[in-house]
Amino acid sequence: MIKDIKYYRCKFLPKSKSNKIGLNVSRSAGLAPNKPVLLLSVIELIERGQIQRNRIYLSPELIATFLKFWHDLEIQRNPDIGLPFFHLRSDGFWHFKANPGFDYLESPQSKIKVRTVGSLSQAVEYVYLDTELFCLLTDPISRNELTLVLIDSWFANKTEQLERSLSVDAFGNISEELLKMGGKVYQPEEVKTTDSQTRIVRDGAFRRMITSIYGYRCAFCGLKVLNNLENIVDGAHIKPFSKFYDNRISNGLSLCKNHHWAFDRLWFSLNDDYTIVVSDSLFEDSPSATPMKAFHGKRLFLPKSPHYHPRLDAIAWHRQAFLNKAS
Ligand SMILES: [Zn+2]
Repeated sequence: MIKDIKYYRCKFLPKSKSNKIGLNVSRSAGLAPNKPVLLLSVIELIERGQIQRNRIYLSPELIATFLKFWHDLEIQRNPDIGLPFFHLRSDGFWHFKANPGFDYLESPQSKIKVRTVGSLSQAVEYVYLDTELFCLLTDPISRNELTLVLIDSWFANKTEQLERSLSVDAFGNISEELLKMGGKVYQPEEVKTTDSQTRIVRDGAFRRMITSIYGYRCAFCGLKVLNNLENIVDGAHIKPFSKFYDNRISNGLSLCKNHHWAFDRLWFSLNDDYTIVVSDSLFEDSPSATPMKAFHGKRLFLPKSPHYHPRLDAIAWHRQAFLNKAS
């Protein structure tokens, strides 16, 4: 079969007697909209330039877009991106690149089901589409045509809602809103009842806010590495989120993977003037990078505006924990 736009037009329609290659969905409570909503979300991220290569991650951007459509379409079921993210595999154009140890998921014959967002994040590195389909979706004309197939065949009575929804950058808006507020402290109840999808979006928005404020640079060592849309730093918490639920800018630091790890384990801390204190118990052998101890007494790389600098009470909390560990 030639995998051209005609083929994928049929693929995106519901499966039926006259269209045996269509999307296979549950019909127990009407046609389940999960798969078309996820496909619309992927298409939107391609259109926004947030998916540039044929690699679809279960990212905060994708989840926020999926939840946006779900909400705007007023679908009367609980949204769960894990279901279509897993089950689209049986439709023949959606393929898993598994993480080490989960290779069996790459075989379409595998009977093992991994459907929760948490377990999918652990097992699947990313999804890739048929090359032919990805090419069609990167071309504006064929992308538009396939989007219309999804809208007309699955959501014909909700085209206005969908058009409005398509123009909203869900994750961008959440991140901007968070930045405007200076971040947010959550109530314990709110954190306890948050599902894993919302948690990924919340954590992703904090990371985006902190890393962009710090110019994608590690506050400890100054490292900055960009690779298209990716960068090497995390949004680290000074007072741990698990205890304080504090996602304010003033409780954040942009740190590279190594220094985030070391900061969480109290291998270094900070003085009130933002100079670094490195534990004297470290043994280091660092032939090709500056050793951590060399940063002792140096000042953090901080954003220009003092408005964004870490709060002194957060630093004091971390320093006390560091001193307790050392004593
Ligand atoms: Zn670093």
